[in-house]
Amino acid sequence: MTVSETLSGALEAYALRSGRAFTRPKAVLFDMDGVLYDSMPGHCRAWKMMCDEAGILADADEFFAYEGRTGASTINLLFERQYGRGADDETCRRLYSRKSAFFKAMGEPPLMPGAREAVDAVLTHGAKCVLVTGSGQSSILEKLDRDYPGAFGMRVTAHDVLRGKPDPEPFLMGLSKACAEPWCAIAIDNAPLGVMSASRAGIFTIGVRTGPLPEGALKEAGADIEINSMSACAEILSKLL
Ligand code: MG
Repeated sequence: MTVSETLSGALEAYALRSGRAFTRPKAVLFDMDGVLYDSMPGHCRAWKMMCDEAGILADADEFFAYEGRTGASTINLLFERQYGRGADDETCRRLYSRKSAFFKAMGEPPLMPGAREAVDAVLTHGAKCVLVTGSGQSSILEKLDRDYPGAFGMRVTAHDVLRGKPDPEPFLMGLSKACAEPWCAIAIDNAPLGVMSASRAGIFTIGVRTGPLPEGALKEAGADIEINSMSACAEILSKLL
């Protein structure tokens, strides 16, 4: 099947699930880690280093599956598993700040190949870019303006949300910042929880498999279309916009 055929099938299915026909998008909502930056391997290593230091048992790869959760939510999950109770706010803050320090010490993560083309396609067509990330990692957030100049004035980060992905809250906040209805927007996320959040917000969702997930995992989480690179995403955006 060609990209155009896959896309037209996905748009028909979207209209059925949302009860609204997809119209020319005014806004494109981008996740950050694993979409704009190839940062997930570093995040997973940093989580594992924090856990080793704190005596928490964990496997580096399991953190791919938690992507999109807030830091506190991930720490609570680890605590529940090991101690049968959540962590208090102070412990969450302390451990998350250790994880952030380990991540920062690794240096700047590379841009995801194809991501700049995807962002450029949105700006060229006069639509708005919005950042919707579960991350509160200031070392990357500060880099965005330099790497994607003029693109991400509108942002939803870990600091803005109460519930975070997979709740639709962060993507609904992104829509409201862009003054866009869900059927005239596109969401792009690489993680099952992020895809779930965008899809529940009623947005046409592109799942980009840039990490070690099995094929079909993002479709299963609710993606309207699943692809395996940001270069393919740039091509699809040019067609949709
Ligand atoms: Mg991500």
